[in-house]
Amino acid sequence: MEALILLSFNIKLKNCIFAENLIKYTMNTNRTFTMIKPDAVANGHIGSILNDITSAGFKIIALKYTKLTAETAGEFYAVHKARPFYADLVNFMSSGPIVAAILEKDNAIEVFRALIGATNPAEAAEGTIRQKYAESIAANAVHGSDSDENAAIEGDFFFTATERF
Ligand code: ATP
Ligand code: MG
Repeated sequence: MEALILLSFNIKLKNCIFAENLIKYTMNTNRTFTMIKPDAVANGHIGSILNDITSAGFKIIALKYTKLTAETAGEFYAVHKARPFYADLVNFMSSGPIVAAILEKDNAIEVFRALIGATNPAEAAEGTIRQKYAESIAANAVHGSDSDENAAIEGDFFFTATERF
């Protein structure tokens, strides 16, 4: 009897772990969100950066050339409100046009962050987008989402359902 109860508990536990992994898997959209920031746009790097992104195997789901206002930049980076560089970040991100995009690839968040390199271009690995095109830690050429959840929120910030293909 005890063995039966234990067996049934074990099966339930296994199903539970399976369901948890299934939920995690289905929640992983394999999408990330990026912006080509005002410095890289002003320095003429839109074409090269998009080429690096598609050459790395990312599919472009949505794409837009636009400009943030101080208000929308502040909203986008609200998570950094308490950081000392917040005002400069908002100023910089609203200083000129940007390119926003939703990208798709297996394991998109992690692979894209590896492709863009460290936040500070001085520490970014050879061949990464920030190492090649960024000016400084503030003007660092590109944004990349840090989680599936934020990728969805950030994509929704710029794109309607009919702007995704
Ligand atoms: P992003 O979110 O833009 O992809 P990140 O995830 O590498 O960059 P975060 O810590 O999220 O880095 O910081 C957001 C942005 O704020 C950075 O990309 C950079 O432009 C700016 N930033 C971060 N740290 C500093 C700093 N110490 N001084 C100035 N600006 C900074
Ligand atoms: Mg970030």
